[in-house]
Amino acid sequence: MLKAEDRIFQNLYGGQPTDLKASKARGDWSNTKDIIENGRDWIVAEVKASGLRGRGGAGFSAGMKWSFVPKDTSPYPVYLVVNADESEPGTCKDRDILRNEPHKLIEGALIAAAGIGAHVGYIYIRGEYYNEAVVLQNAIDEAYAAGLLGKNAAKSGWDFDLYLHRGAGAYICGEETALLESLEGKKGMPRLKPPFPANIGLYGCPTIINNVETIAVVPTILRRGSGWFAGLGRPNNTGTKIFCISGHVNKPCNVEEEMGISLRELIDKHAGGVRGGWNNLKAVIPGGSSVPLLPKNVCDSVLMDFDSLRAEGSGLGTAGVIVMDQSTDVIKAIARLSKFYMHESCGQCSPCREGTGWMWRMMEKLVKGDGVSSDIDLLLEVTKQVEGHTICALGDAAAWPIQGLVRHFRGEIEERIRNASVAA
Ligand code: SF4
Repeated sequence: MLKAEDRIFQNLYGGQPTDLKASKARGDWSNTKDIIENGRDWIVAEVKASGLRGRGGAGFSAGMKWSFVPKDTSPYPVYLVVNADESEPGTCKDRDILRNEPHKLIEGALIAAAGIGAHVGYIYIRGEYYNEAVVLQNAIDEAYAAGLLGKNAAKSGWDFDLYLHRGAGAYICGEETALLESLEGKKGMPRLKPPFPANIGLYGCPTIINNVETIAVVPTILRRGSGWFAGLGRPNNTGTKIFCISGHVNKPCNVEEEMGISLRELIDKHAGGVRGGWNNLKAVIPGGSSVPLLPKNVCDSVLMDFDSLRAEGSGLGTAGVIVMDQSTDVIKAIARLSKFYMHESCGQCSPCREGTGWMWRMMEKLVKGDGVSSDIDLLLEVTKQVEGHTICALGDAAAWPIQGLVRHFRGEIEERIRNASVAA
């Protein structure tokens, strides 16, 4: 279990004020100037050495991503973009950072900008996070007034302007290239990659896009040292992580814990256990709605990190842990997610536009037991036709929950089909 002194987010639950004075008292902005004066190469090397992997879902090495920005980009500027378009069902970790620890994010943005050579940054926040946008804008204004942003930010010699941009509530704008399109004032539709944003991003210029949590942990990592962060968790899965635990638990919560904690310990220690006890558990979606669910026998021992969950055929994703007890109609639960992905598809590529609707309609039939056993194989085949054949990962996100359902609960689907045919 994570020791109190190793917690990065000391005000995650908002028990203390969020203003600059209170944030400084918690250690924010304490030696920002010294960190930046160590230089760009040092910042990138330290972030790399810490093992920090992106906290938005993909889990790519943050330091490695930063190193992809060409050293000489002239005459083009480099941009930093912070992805605060948190919309993954089951996930609300960035919201707590935005509303309770905004200065961690702003300080992190300044340091990250110095690390990649950016003088301008944007925070793209989902439109529904209105209160969070107000808190964050106040914090940005405070930082400007205190000389922590703008010319010679924090007396570091680095000029940095930071702008807050509110989105309009489309899930797909959380996809990094759709986010850039939206920021440019266009429809939020993902771009084909390559080129990747580190080379051609916002307004055609080199751009680094990172999730809120990724950027917000950077100041503490650089203050305490990469070795401290790398010493937490497990190899290749280092540091701490905010987990969001929801569903059939006694005390749903967000909690910062060490990477690699067991799922059972996470739920029992922090969320008051599964409703009705551990043996009443049916399944858990461990990483936000896009990753395949895990049945109880896997949940008994699985560790919560990128590699352990991948080895079980799922993923850490955003670490949105959705707990389902024995009362859950798991087929209906996944059908609901299928409807969500159909609704959020931007529609520009056929396998996703047509496939998400087809998969949802088939799932609705299976909820009622309306079909034959071979329909399950057909559905699985369609998920494979969608997976990996689309411009962005929304196609995969629509396919994986169904694949997980069939992998672990095929018997339940077949039983429902049998019962429905007997009743007819
Ligand atoms: Fe749009 Fe879906 Fe294609 Fe992504 S996969 S670009 S959401 S149609």
